[in-house]
Amino acid sequence: MRRPLHILLNLATALSLVLFVATVALWVRGRSTVDFLSRPAAARGGEPRRVLIAAVGGVVRVTVGKDALDARPAGWRHRASADEFDVGLVRATIAAADANDTDYLGVRLLAVPGVRVYSVDTREPWTFQVFARLWVVALATAVLPARRLAGWLIGHRRRRRRRAAKRCPLCGYDLRATPDRCPECGAVPVSNDRASGSGSV
Ligand SMILES: [Zn+2]
Repeated sequence: MRRPLHILLNLATALSLVLFVATVALWVRGRSTVDFLSRPAAARGGEPRRVLIAAVGGVVRVTVGKDALDARPAGWRHRASADEFDVGLVRATIAAADANDTDYLGVRLLAVPGVRVYSVDTREPWTFQVFARLWVVALATAVLPARRLAGWLIGHRRRRRRRAAKRCPLCGYDLRATPDRCPECGAVPVSNDRASGSGSV
């Protein structure tokens, strides 16, 4: 039961780290560039749909809705523009979202600090728009990697402290009588004045 959970946590941590790096990169890019990422989504009710992710000025907007244009190529498409799109308009849209301008955006489904979710058209299920401040996304995606990093640092310091105190670096058992092998957990510690061998910890 513990092992699958551990693998899942490792995967989530790796994914979080990738998202965190991407978020920070978007954040920096968003100062001068609008990034668009889009792909056709599965049709619902016979109408073509589209997923559109736009990032600019420290905010990401995810829209899932009807696709006005036909015959788009399949798969993800990325487009970046420094001048094609009006950054001011995007910022105004973001400001409207922050001001809870529900008339403009449809019905608000969720509002937490830095994140807004709207239903664009209440008659159309699965059309929604998400606004998220990138610092919120960065913070959320930093939790798991930071937890792992803290675990490594704490473990490293604990092992060093135990080695210095002539204790087993793994379990802390007193190794003054048996310096070659821990009788408690079987670990073979490597000390500084001995050539390192296999099975070291
Ligand atoms: Zn031990």
